[in-house]
Amino acid sequence: MASNNTELIEKILHFKRQRNAVILAHNYQLGEAQDIADFVGDSLELSQNAAKTDADVIVFCGVHFMAETASILCPDKIVLLPDIHAGCPMADMITTKSLREKKRELPGAAVVCYVNSSAEVKAESDICCTSANAVEVVESLDSEEILFVPDQYLGHYVSTKTDKKIVLWPGFCPTHVRIQPEDITRLKLEYPQAKAVVHPECRPEVIALADEVLSTGGMCRFAQNTEAKEIIVGTEIGIIHRLKKENPEKKFVPLSEQAICPTMKLINLEKMLRSLEEMAPEVKVPEETRLRAKVAVDRMLKVA
Ligand code: SF4
Repeated sequence: MASNNTELIEKILHFKRQRNAVILAHNYQLGEAQDIADFVGDSLELSQNAAKTDADVIVFCGVHFMAETASILCPDKIVLLPDIHAGCPMADMITTKSLREKKRELPGAAVVCYVNSSAEVKAESDICCTSANAVEVVESLDSEEILFVPDQYLGHYVSTKTDKKIVLWPGFCPTHVRIQPEDITRLKLEYPQAKAVVHPECRPEVIALADEVLSTGGMCRFAQNTEAKEIIVGTEIGIIHRLKKENPEKKFVPLSEQAICPTMKLINLEKMLRSLEEMAPEVKVPEETRLRAKVAVDRMLKVA
């Protein structure tokens, strides 16, 4: 297996050089994808990185909406998603049609769209946000009424940090809702010295019991800076790979072993190699949608 991986890695690196490609991986990806990537990060960090890369090709190890965001920001680059079926169930919980209907009901509301959404939904929105900057984005707007889509839990978390009226969309992340308040209560008893960090996509009852509420990028920084030696991690468990690698002297305990996002695990070394060889599957946002979605993404990047 190890020698197979070594061979695959050599071939990927060969094609990467030949294509002048950069490999970006989300913190939830398989360890093998994270280890070969040029950059590993959360959605915000990945979009910032995609925006400034001078590579001709971006191999995106993440899910479809992330590759779309790269395409929105870098229309001249080829964006490859090594498995085109790597989608996000939360992003599928909203359509442009349903969003337009809701906008008609709330004509005075500004639409803040979590980046976990399709390019078309972004194109219908005033501004995007990630879990790292959602509060700042909402606070940056003149409007006092906000329609927050599609994650009701991130939206609820934001509503606890602002005086603005937040109207929630009923979407959610099926992976993060598996994390239960009982999990955090049990682990805090088992590890009384540990700090519990959770993602704002978690249920409010889980967030209420946490020491910190952070994006995955925020969790990585917290792990490096905290004096705590034990950290309970409330998000998709793929991030444990990076946390352990960067902090070998600390102990990381997943809040729930059930917190696995199946679509985040679809990309592996074989698919990355095939993608670089065949230069497919490519994710390209149609120009008319791209231009409208870019307004919302650019506005977010100015706040971030
Ligand atoms: S972890 Fe949740 S929000 Fe992230 S890609 Fe998976 S389903 Fe979507």
